[in-house]
Parts: sequence; C-alpha cells; structure tokens
Amino acid sequence: MEPLAQKLDHLSITSQPSHPSTSSSSSSLSSIPAWILSCFAARDRAAFAAADNKHENHDDQMEIDSHPYHPPSLPKNTVFNHSSSGSSTEFTDAVWGRVFNHRRDYSLTPHVHAVVRPRSVAEVIAAVSYAKVTGKRVSVRSGGHSWAAWSVRGDAVLVDLCELGLSDGLPSLREGHGHHGHHGAYGQTEELVKDADQRGPAEACVWYDEESEVVACPPAMTGRELNDFLAEKGRMFAGGHCPDVGLGGFLLQGGMGWNCKNWGWACESVISMEVVTADGQHLLINNDSHPDLFWAARGAGPGFPAIVTRFYLLTRPLMEMYQSLYFYPVSLFKKVLQWEINIAPTCDPGMEIVCVSTHLRSNPNPTDTNPNSNPSPEPKDYDPEPTILASFTLFTTSRSAALAALQPIHDLHPPGTKHLIFCQPTSLTQEYTQQLLANPEGHRYCSDNAYIASDLSSSSPTTSPPSELSEVFGASSSGFHDHEQGAAALSVPDVLEKAFTTLPTVQSSALWFSMNPRSRHPLLDPQGQPMALSMQSDHYFAVYTVWSDPRDDERCTGWVKDVFKGLVEKREAVLVGSYLGDADFRVRRARFWSDECAKRLKEVRKVWDGEGRMGGFCEDKEGNDRVMDNGEGWV
Ligand SMILES: Cc1cc2nc3c(=O)[nH]c(=O)nc-3n(C[C@H](O)[C@H](O)[C@H](O)COP(=O)(O)OP(=O)(O)OC[C@H]3O[C@@H](n4cnc5c(N)ncnc54)[C@H](O)[C@@H]3O)c2cc1C
Repeated sequence: MEPLAQKLDHLSITSQPSHPSTSSSSSSLSSIPAWILSCFAARDRAAFAAADNKHENHDDQMEIDSHPYHPPSLPKNTVFNHSSSGSSTEFTDAVWGRVFNHRRDYSLTPHVHAVVRPRSVAEVIAAVSYAKVTGKRVSVRSGGHSWAAWSVRGDAVLVDLCELGLSDGLPSLREGHGHHGHHGAYGQTEELVKDADQRGPAEACVWYDEESEVVACPPAMTGRELNDFLAEKGRMFAGGHCPDVGLGGFLLQGGMGWNCKNWGWACESVISMEVVTADGQHLLINNDSHPDLFWAARGAGPGFPAIVTRFYLLTRPLMEMYQSLYFYPVSLFKKVLQWEINIAPTCDPGMEIVCVSTHLRSNPNPTDTNPNSNPSPEPKDYDPEPTILASFTLFTTSRSAALAALQPIHDLHPPGTKHLIFCQPTSLTQEYTQQLLANPEGHRYCSDNAYIASDLSSSSPTTSPPSELSEVFGASSSGFHDHEQGAAALSVPDVLEKAFTTLPTVQSSALWFSMNPRSRHPLLDPQGQPMALSMQSDHYFAVYTVWSDPRDDERCTGWVKDVFKGLVEKREAVLVGSYLGDADFRVRRARFWSDECAKRLKEVRKVWDGEGRMGGFCEDKEGNDRVMDNGEGWV
C-alpha cells in the first residue's frame, strides 16, 4: 500500500505564504487505505447479521412492541424513564452521571425518554430506528464534556456511546466501578492492546495501522485513552487539552487540540468516519464517499445530522515536550499579552502559546514541588490575586532543539516576573494532570468565547503591524470579516483586560490562545477540501468560570454576560465569531461559521435529517432554529 500522500509527520503549518494542505489538490479513493475499506465492509456485514439475529433471538435484547412492522430492539441495559425496568435514581444517573458540568437543568430529566448504551453499530441502528417509529428525537453523548450538556434533550432517546466498541473481554466502567464516571470508558491500555491483538482491525475497540499511521477508535474514547494507547506505538494524536474530553464532540466541532496554531485543527486529521444516519444507514464517509456529510462532520458540532460510530485518524510521531512558564502580577497583563502576540508568529512550529489569567494555589502540598498542584483545593487554598501566566509548550526532538527554540523567547520576556520556569521537560501525562487541576470535577461551569479580530493587535504602540493583514481580511470565504477603521483604536489586551483582571471566583480562568499562523491560511483539510469549520482568527479568547455553590450561579453567569456584552457592543470592530466548543448557543448566539457555510450546513442537514430526528441545535422538528442564522446576540 502506498503511504498516504499527506501524512501529518510532514504537515506543520509555518509562516509560509501557502497552506501546505493546499499542495495536494485532489482527493481520490486511493487516499483511503485499503484496510479501512475492508474494515468497514466487515463491520457493515456484522451490523446486518446482528440485526437479522435479533429477530430470532431476543434473549439479550429489549423488544419494543409498539412498532407495527419491524420491531426495533434496544440493548437490555437501556434505561427508560417511564417503565418498571429501573429506579428513578438509576435513570437520573444514566441521564446526568457522565455530564462534566454540575450546573445542570434537572427539570429536563423526566422529559428524556430513554438512555441507550449501544455496544455495537447494530445497537446504534436499533436506537435510531426506535426513535423513528416512536416519534422521538435522538440526542448523542460521547465524552459528556460539552459545557452546556448538549446530550440532555427533552422528548429524546439519549444514545450514550460510552460502551460502543466494548467486547465481553473489555469491562466497561460500569462493570469495573459500579458507576459511569467521566474518566473515559475504555479502561486500561494493556486491555486495549490485548483486545486489538485478539479481535483485529474490524472489531477491536481501538486499532493502529503502522503502514498508514492511522488509528481507528470509538467516539467516546478520550484524548488521554487514545494517547496512552498510541504512546505504545511511538505515536500521538493532538486531541483536546483536557484528558477526559470525548473525541466525538471535540472532533465534530473542529477540535482545538495540542499545538493547533501550527498543526491545525484536530478535525483536519480525520480521514474517514463511520456513521449511522438519522434513517439508520451505516455509512463510511470521507472526501470521496458522501463528501457533503463528511464536510459537515468537520465543524457542525452538535448540528451533525448523524451519529459517528468510528473515527479513522492520522496520527503523528510522539515527541519530547518542554515548557517555559512566566508568572506575572495581574498589573502587567497588557504588556505580557502584547509581548506574546508580537512573538507568536516567529516561534518554532512546534510551539503552543497561551496567556492565561488564573489564581495560583497558595497552599501547595509541601511534598509536591509543583506550585500549582493540590488534589482537592478549597477557595482558601488559592492566592486571592490573579496571576498572568505566559506559557510556551514545545513539541520537539531533543533538549538542544528545545533550548534553541525557547532561548529567544526567554531573552525577550518582559521584566517583572513573580516566578519563571525555563525549558522544563514535560509530557502529555503531566500536562493532562495540570488540566485536571485547572478544571476540577464536581463543579459548576459557565464558559463563553470569541475570536478577536486579528488586526486589533496591530494598533498597539508596542507592536509592529503585520504586513499581510489586508490579504488575510480579504479572505472572506475562510471566515474573515472586513474590519472597520474603528478597530485601529483598540488593541487585543485592551479588549480582554476586563476578563483577565476581574475573574469572579478563584477557580475561574481567562485564556488567550494563539492561533497564528493556522489562522492565516484558508480552512481546508489536508486534501485541500473545505470543511464546515470556517471561523478563525489569530486570537482565540475564552473564559471558564468555575464555582460550586448554586447561590453563586447568577453572579458567575452574570460576569460572563458582562464580559461578552462589552465585546458584542464593539462587534463590528472586535468580534470575528465564536467556537462552538466553548459556547452555549442556548444562551448566546454567535457567528459560528462563515455565512456561506452556515447556509450549506442547513441544506446538508435537510438532506440527511429531513424529519429533524437528531437533537441538533435544539431547534424544532421543522428545523426552525436560529443557530444557523449565524447572528450575534443573547437568546
Ligand atoms: C474541561 C474541558 C476542557 C476542554 N478542553 C478543550 C480543548 O482543549 N479543546 C477543544 O476544542 N475543546 C475543549 N473542550 C470543549 C469540548 O471539546 C466540547 O465541549 C466537546 O463537545 C466535548 O465533547 P464530548 O464528546 O466530551 O461531549 P458530549 O457532551 O458527549 O458531546 C457534545 C455533543 O456533540 C455531539 N456528539 C458527540 N459525539 C457525537 C457522535 N459520536 N456522533 C454525533 N454527534 C456527537 C452531540 O450533539 C453531543 O451532545 C473542553 C471541555 C471541557 C469540559
């Protein structure tokens, strides 16, 4: 088999004038490795065989009698709301137990019709067919990490994919711990490796093919589970920063993974997917097969009109990781952020660059040398003053390469640090631990985000104007606006100052994530094909508000609203749009796509889900929703 023309090992977006992905112009079936095609064929046959078998053997299935001609059978472990088959506690746990955010609308619980946990494609098809004949809608859950708990919908069958791909030999969390938590469902790497050896590419929960460097995995697998498995093969996948985010929700909305600014969006590494459509068809989709659905699958987020049952992802080599961290007092926020904005385009293509406002732990475990760690912190354990952390995380090949990349940054860092760490070795495992500390479990969350206009930074007196700005803002097909002259009066640090300096709780954070140079290239996949994902700018800004007492709900959500009100008021000059991943469109609508892509997404959804079966954007069944109108404002 020919190696893939566009292996990610060679795909690193640099400041070159043309996007490397555009160098491969056309797609063809030959770009999909043959093993994927035969895997799909085998899996499709198995799904049909299982469906036939169900009609003869109902032992381990729950049959629904109401369907007049082709009774769909659901897995026995389906939990119904209105039935004698389970307690209300069991039902509530099935609905909410895997939802990360504890700010939950429990009034929805009695309106959820059933929670299904399919183990096979056949069982996913059965769940969709059941919804079809009973007139219910379908909502989907992979990792349960959407901030707004998009998987919990009224009048819907919730298809929770946490057991998809498991065999009898692979115990689910439920069997292992008696409870569906949100630490991933697939357990130990050794078990997954054994499972792959025993069951082979078509049946294994996760499978890595050395020749194509592609991994096949289920959508509820987390970034950490996948990377633990891939590390055994010397490979990695640039999944979400939080270890427990599910691949399903993450990839469908684009996926701002590790080193996104250089390696591109995680969905650019999806070469194919298996899906079950709203009509119960099992399909392999990619740029050659059902390209409209594949286009939508990279950017539609919860509006994807089908259920992904398997991803085929290009991996990249596992690299060494090093980090420099600069901790500043909040009074230096503007200076520090402007410095990061200025140097970002010149940094090594393996470098992720972040500015975050955070309260450091003031009470670290004395035996732990990491000033930021403490397993279960209370608000009193945090420094009352926020710290501005400038972070440079490098994926590279050696310590000497790391020193060469990090030294120029070090030489230019603004004076006034409270503390700094230079070129410290780190790893995905260590970074995942930090992310867990920053996003503590069992808390209430409210997040929102915006892409800030790339040209704002040029107005700062400390910045030299990027020369290619006019070219970039002319690229309307990739989601850029023309910006008003008024923007020239503002800098990015100006417009983010309020968020970074007034965090409402000590656990909360505000983040600026450098997206340049990825943001300077059209949003095309490595085969040069467009994706629904169509919004980006140099500056990704998000707030993550964290608290535990429900009495703080109004104050914390009110703070988020205030911050974004300030930005929305300046909209034309400041806001480009928003990322679905950190948004809640039931609270604030935003420009999630270019207008052209929003229109196309509406059409694709009509074609593939004309009856509005998939829960999507919480619209009514006729598709009357305002999310795809792509406007800004509060609901
Ligand atoms: C602590 C934390 C850290 C995060 N860090 C990052 C980050 O670094 N980068 C980033 O980009 N995002 C990040 N996010 C956002 C996260 O990627 C999104 O919220 C994403 O939707 C979560 O995916 P999930 O599968 O875990 O969520 P779920 O709630 O299970 O899924 C969200 C929705 O996506 C759709 N969906 C999910 N799976 C499928 C499927 N298989 N088929 C069809 N539709 C499906 C459904 O509509 C579902 O309701 C983070 C979120 C949290 C809570």
